[in-house]
Amino acid sequence: MTTEFETHDHDVLIIGAGGAGLRAALGALAEGANVGVVCKSLLGKAHTVMAEGGIAAAMANVDSADDWRTHFRDTMRGGKLLNNWRMAQRHAQEAPERVKELEQWGALFDRTQDGKILQRAFGGHTFRRLCHVGDRTGLEMIRTLQDRGVQLGVDVYMECTISRLLMDGDRVAGAFGYWREQGRFVVFRAKSIVIATGGIGKAYKITSNSWEYTGDGMALAYNAGAELMDMEFVQFHPTGMVWPPGVQGLLVTEAVRGEGGLLTNKAGERFMQKYDPKKMELSTRDVVARAIYTEVREGRGTEHGGAFLDISHKPAEYVKKKLPSMYHQFRELADVDITKGPMEVGPTCHYMMGGIRVEAETAQTTLPGLFAAGEAAAGLHGANRLGGNSLSDLLVFGRRAGVAAAEHAKQVQNTPVNSTQIESAARDLLVPFERPTGENPYTIHRELQDVMQSLVGIYRTREDLIRALGELEKLKERNSRVSVEGSRMFNPGWHLAQDLTSMLTVSEAVAQSALAREESRGAHSRIDHPSLSPTWGTKNNVITRDGAAMKLRQSPVPELPSDLKQLVADEK
Ligand SMILES: Cc1cc2nc3c(=O)[nH]c(=O)nc-3n(C[C@H](O)[C@H](O)[C@H](O)COP(=O)(O)OP(=O)(O)OC[C@H]3O[C@@H](n4cnc5c(N)ncnc54)[C@H](O)[C@@H]3O)c2cc1C
Repeated sequence: MTTEFETHDHDVLIIGAGGAGLRAALGALAEGANVGVVCKSLLGKAHTVMAEGGIAAAMANVDSADDWRTHFRDTMRGGKLLNNWRMAQRHAQEAPERVKELEQWGALFDRTQDGKILQRAFGGHTFRRLCHVGDRTGLEMIRTLQDRGVQLGVDVYMECTISRLLMDGDRVAGAFGYWREQGRFVVFRAKSIVIATGGIGKAYKITSNSWEYTGDGMALAYNAGAELMDMEFVQFHPTGMVWPPGVQGLLVTEAVRGEGGLLTNKAGERFMQKYDPKKMELSTRDVVARAIYTEVREGRGTEHGGAFLDISHKPAEYVKKKLPSMYHQFRELADVDITKGPMEVGPTCHYMMGGIRVEAETAQTTLPGLFAAGEAAAGLHGANRLGGNSLSDLLVFGRRAGVAAAEHAKQVQNTPVNSTQIESAARDLLVPFERPTGENPYTIHRELQDVMQSLVGIYRTREDLIRALGELEKLKERNSRVSVEGSRMFNPGWHLAQDLTSMLTVSEAVAQSALAREESRGAHSRIDHPSLSPTWGTKNNVITRDGAAMKLRQSPVPELPSDLKQLVADEK
């Protein structure tokens, strides 16, 4: 049966060509593995390319007192101690090395007067720590990683969506997917697989995320039997565009606040004084997002339902140099000159702290042969991610995943892939064409986004979450009757039908976990449980598949060793 489909063999197959996937590819190549990278869009167009503010790494180029310990403490405190401490430690210790390596491979960072990599302030970071390239850091990172990967001989499969992981017993042995242009099916046989597919933002109505963020990797891993963790922690970035409607949600980088941007309400008050007088605009994202939301809800919002963010007190040339994308974004999309007046901003669904549960040293999931890194994986950020900690996460754990995947590949053989699994994967993809009438995928997607935005958003209640789960159940049922017209060629409706199944899976996991966690912690705010709970502070929510049902259980947060516990507790 496998001969019927185009088939490719690799030691390591990486699903996703963002920062995590490309860094994993370089890690695996360095170990001598034969590596393939598959991505839904064109190489170089992954989500990472949109990253603006920078990469957090305690290099101490600007603030000499910075070190990995402070970065570790900031990350743990930002994550409200729900983080996997070992991941946070590895991350803080290894990020500087990974950034230097990027520079050696050709990344051109902004510079200090004496030629070191320049670092800027960001919310929740004690010191100026974000290595950046104006507000286009992700572009430079992707360009550098991709150039190196291509130079070292990685095989790239672009515009190809993976829809199913193929198993050999409980071991992951390959992947099944389709070419987006022609709709032809393709089989990959691999000894190890790294999932690096990013987040879930498209399940929400207002989001900074692109069309690729439909939670595919999490759903692929979950369906194969891996565990999902911390799914209730969805980050709402405080500053997305609120006007005009066509660009609602588009990110306004935290670098604006890092460079001195001030937040005010319609009465001109710097309202962060009420919510975090110490850190003000540089408070963590969860706090600033709730502050803006509250100002708007209590009638102190701007005309279009946001807050003002103003950087115009800085010299115009400085603003254009440090925030060129923001300058153009507002000029072109909102007819606002940010060197002369304020922007209007409001919260937007931005980042997923939860994801596939992995082991700290190797990024291996609970399934042999399956690894995960980047936004698709959970653990490092706990209940809330600090800005800049994602790009460093991609570098540190992308590399670790790639190296470990290559090591694993040395110990196993590629096996023939089970034809029943392939037939079933192909059938699942084709069935929407066989229904002459049925549900429209676009309608279901719109309704899913409404449910997640209004019932599983910034503020949550038990009542809303129970309602959301009921609505998700109905949407799942309707999705089983989804119908698409036309052929497999160039058919976005068909692609969405596939993505919808992933979005429904991850949305259910988010709502279930949010309902279980009866406290407010980091990005998860329960109106009916407004405080931190000491009991919940020691538990991660873990989701697994049990037949067709989603099972939720709690797992103890790994306990910090005493020296690190002291470090986190230190009053600095
Ligand atoms: C506007 C914006 C600005 C940001 N700025 C910063 C910042 O300054 N600093 C910071 O630390 N973080 C920032 N972030 C967050 C950070 O950019 C992301 O978390 C990070 O880039 C995710 O990288 P990744 O490699 O995990 O995934 P991505 O870069 O999104 O890559 C995912 C890859 O998976 C592929 N894929 C997905 N599903 C499938 C499938 N089924 N089959 C095949 N391929 C698939 C996609 O095509 C893509 O290649 C920002 C995010 C946004 C949206």
